[in-house]
Amino acid sequence: MKLKRSLVGLLLAAVAVPASAQWLTRSEDIMGTRCVVELWANDAEEGNAAIEAVFADMHRIDAAMSTYKPTSLVSKVNAEAADHPVIVDDELFDLLTKAIEFSRLSEGAFDITYASVGFMYDFRARERPAEDAIRDALPAVNYRHLELDPKGRTVRFLHPGVRIDLGGIGKGHAVDRGIDILKTRRVEHAMVNAGGDSRIIGDRFGKPWIVGIRHPDRKDETIMRIPLVDTAISTSGDYERFFDEGGSRYHHIIDPGTGHSASQVRSATILASTATRTDGLSKTAFVLGAEKTIALYNRLDDVEAVIVTPDGRVLYTQGLAPPES
Ligand code: ADP
Ligand code: MG
Repeated sequence: MKLKRSLVGLLLAAVAVPASAQWLTRSEDIMGTRCVVELWANDAEEGNAAIEAVFADMHRIDAAMSTYKPTSLVSKVNAEAADHPVIVDDELFDLLTKAIEFSRLSEGAFDITYASVGFMYDFRARERPAEDAIRDALPAVNYRHLELDPKGRTVRFLHPGVRIDLGGIGKGHAVDRGIDILKTRRVEHAMVNAGGDSRIIGDRFGKPWIVGIRHPDRKDETIMRIPLVDTAISTSGDYERFFDEGGSRYHHIIDPGTGHSASQVRSATILASTATRTDGLSKTAFVLGAEKTIALYNRLDDVEAVIVTPDGRVLYTQGLAPPES
């Protein structure tokens, strides 16, 4: 009898949840986008402090990497790196190294020097550069113009007029940093999201997290729901930042080869282990097209993709495709 009671006590202790344990969700607008952190907290105060720490780090990254902020380290690189090598910190050096890796992986579709032309677009103001302005600036768009020296931790531009912008990788990086912060604080179930970039730790107590891919034209419609555990996911779409004019859509993903918006697909969703990688690899299909990108990513063990074409087809990599009937 005694033994039985203590057994029950033990079992209760094992399943007992602290009084303040709960799911916490908070959002904040940072880096020009809505950022959301959702986590399971054994202690609400600790959970809220963890979320604060993630948002504080996102503000720090924005201050260091935004091209809209003249005081950022990236703005300093843009102002000076054509004249002399600019010393950067480890974080930026590593991110620039990854950016070049993604350029190679995507056959040049991902290219942070897109900004040499890209800075002339203002999608909110419906402004785009004239054709001759694009033609003049285009030779500066090429990731091979970036020279990184790991010894001095410097970056130099090998061509005049080069500008970089980390808008296509920075949010993924911020999400990965957020996940690191939560893991250090022993959070075991969480999702960190910045615009189209998300990463997940753990599951939702036996159930996966469900992330939806939206319909390119109908905001409230989901074309697919993907169950996820311990992974990163990014979606890029031509419906995020755009304006339509004369039957053409001008949107925020730029083809480094032409300086025009890259319109081979409507959206691309990428799955991999880090959000830096999924963010970087979510632009490729816009430039290379759906078929070529699927073939490219089928050759990478750790990358899956779902791509929506302009005529409404949905293509998958091998790891996601339904079994052949
Ligand atoms: P979000 O900004 O919502 O995360 P994406 O992940 O799709 O959207 O990234 C789009 C951003 O990527 C653009 O706003 C721009 O800053 C940047 N970008 C545009 N074209 C390219 C390109 N060819 N290579 C790398 N980055 C790009
Ligand atoms: Mg992104």
